[in-house]
Amino acid sequence: MNHSRTAHDIAVVGAGAAGTLTALRLLHNAAAGRPAPARIWLIDPEPAGRGLAFGTDAPHHLLNVPAGRMSAHRDDPGHFVRWLGDRGGEHDFVPRGLFGRYLAESLETAGKHHAAPDLVRVPDRVVGITHQPSAASSAASPLSLRLRGGQSLDFDAAVLALGNFAPGLAWVPPELRASGMFLADPWAPGALATVPEDRDVLLVGTGLTMVDMALSLQRPGRVVHALSRHGLVPQPHATTPILAPATPELDARSGLAGLRRAVLRQIAYCRRVHGDWRMGVDSLRPVTSALWQQLSPADQARLLAQDLRLWETHRHRIPPVSARALRTAVDAGQVSIGRGTVADTKTTADAHGDVVEVRLDNGRRLRVGAVLNCTGSEADLTRIDDTLVTDLLSTGLGTPAPVGGGFDTTAGGRLRPADDRAPAPLWTLGSLRRGNLLETTAIPEIRCQADDLALLLLDRSALATRGEAAPAH
Ligand SMILES: Cc1cc2nc3c(=O)[nH]c(=O)nc-3n(C[C@H](O)[C@H](O)[C@H](O)COP(=O)(O)OP(=O)(O)OC[C@H]3O[C@@H](n4cnc5c(N)ncnc54)[C@H](O)[C@@H]3O)c2cc1C
Repeated sequence: MNHSRTAHDIAVVGAGAAGTLTALRLLHNAAAGRPAPARIWLIDPEPAGRGLAFGTDAPHHLLNVPAGRMSAHRDDPGHFVRWLGDRGGEHDFVPRGLFGRYLAESLETAGKHHAAPDLVRVPDRVVGITHQPSAASSAASPLSLRLRGGQSLDFDAAVLALGNFAPGLAWVPPELRASGMFLADPWAPGALATVPEDRDVLLVGTGLTMVDMALSLQRPGRVVHALSRHGLVPQPHATTPILAPATPELDARSGLAGLRRAVLRQIAYCRRVHGDWRMGVDSLRPVTSALWQQLSPADQARLLAQDLRLWETHRHRIPPVSARALRTAVDAGQVSIGRGTVADTKTTADAHGDVVEVRLDNGRRLRVGAVLNCTGSEADLTRIDDTLVTDLLSTGLGTPAPVGGGFDTTAGGRLRPADDRAPAPLWTLGSLRRGNLLETTAIPEIRCQADDLALLLLDRSALATRGEAAPAH
C-alpha cells in the first residue's frame, strides 16, 4: 500500500540519537521560518531518542561526555543543562537514560510548535529502498521505502540514521556461538538477565561497553574477566573541567609518520603548558576529520590498525566516577582487565550447571558462565547482518567507504552510489560516516551534522536536483 503523496516528504530512518536530532532540527528550522516540508516521517520500531547509548535505564551507565557539551542544539549549547536544571538534576555526567528522555521530550515539544510540519511516527523497520531517477522530471517521488510490515512509502529524500550495528562475530569460535552462554549483543533488551548469578563472566573487548558491563555485573563472589588484544581501557575525564585550548594548525599531507610526530608534540605541549594531556587531545577534535582526509588510503589503513585503539581510549573518555568504580572493583579482585584473545572454547557441565571453558591465546584457561561480546559495533558493512544495508549495497545505492567504517559519502553526507547508478536523495550521519570522517560518533559532531542536513533538506532547490549529476551535497 502506498501513502497518498504530498510534495516534499522527508523520511528519517532510525530514531536513535542521530535520527531524533535530525527530525528535531527539521522541525525546529521549519518552525523558524525555513520552507517546511509537507511531512517529516520518523521510522523505527524503537521509541525516539534512546538507541544504543541512551536506551539504558541503569543509573550507573553515565554520559561519557559532560552534559554541557550534549545540547541537542548547536546554537543553544546550554539547552540540555537547563533541561536538567529544571528537573533538579546535576549538570555533569548524569545517567545516559536521562539524555534519551531529553531528546524524546525535545522532539515532542518541537512537534507541537504551531508552525512545525507534521511529524509522523512509523513503528517499523525499513528493509529496502528503490530509487527511480526518472521521477525527478515528473511529479512522482524518487524514493520508495519498503517496510518489514509489507508497506511501501514514497519520499523525496531520506536520512539513514541507522547508527550502531551489533558487534562483529568473526572472532567467535563456532562452539561458543552455539553454546547458549554467548551474548552476541550485550545491549539487547534483557541480555544481562541471562547471565548466571553464581559464575564468573568473560567480557571480550575493553572499551566503553566493557566499562558499563563490568560495572553492571561486578559483585562479591564473582570475577568479571575483561580481555582485548591490547588490554587498553578508556581514560577518565579530568576531575575538574578543562579549558578548550586553541586548535593547532597541523597538516597530514606528508604522511602518517609526520602526523604521529605532530600529534605527540601537540599533546606534550599542552601537558607542559596547561598541565593536562587531555587538552592536547581535545584541541585536535575540530581538525581530526580534515587531517584524516589528507592521509592516503594506505596510511588511513595503517592508522586504523596501529593507532586507532590508543587514540580512542584517550579521545572517548569515561566519567571520573566510573573510572573510580572500575578501579575499586579491580582492586577488590572482582574485575580483572588484561590482554588476550579467545583461542577456543569447550562447553562442559558441573554440579551448578553448564560452564564454558575458554582457552586464551597465551594458554590461560577461564571457566565462566557467560561470554559477552563487548567488541563494539561492527564497522564493516559487508559483514553486517542487516537487511537494509545488504539491500543498499546490492542495488548499488550505497557503497562502503574505501577503508571501511560505514558508507562512502559526499562532504554533506550523501551516499555515493556504485559507478553505474545515479545518486539517490539519500543521506546519512554519525557512525555510518566514520570511514570518511573518523571523528563523527559522539553528539557534539552528530548534532552539527543533523542541523546541516536539516537545513539542506529544507532547501527545495537543493532537493530539486535530486542527484542525477554527481552529488555535491
Ligand atoms: C556504551 C556507549 C556509550 C556512549 N556514550 C556516549 C555519550 O555519553 N555521549 C555521546 O555523545 N556519545 C556517546 N556514545 C556514542 C554513541 O554511539 C552515539 O552518541 C549515539 O549512540 C549515536 O546514535 P545513533 O542514532 O547514531 O545510533 P543508535 O543509538 O544505534 O540508533 C540507531 C537507531 O536506528 C534504528 N534502525 C536501524 N536500522 C533501522 C532500519 N532499517 N529501519 C528503522 N530503524 C532502524 C535502530 O532501531 C536504532 O533505534 C556512546 C556509545 C556507546 C557504545
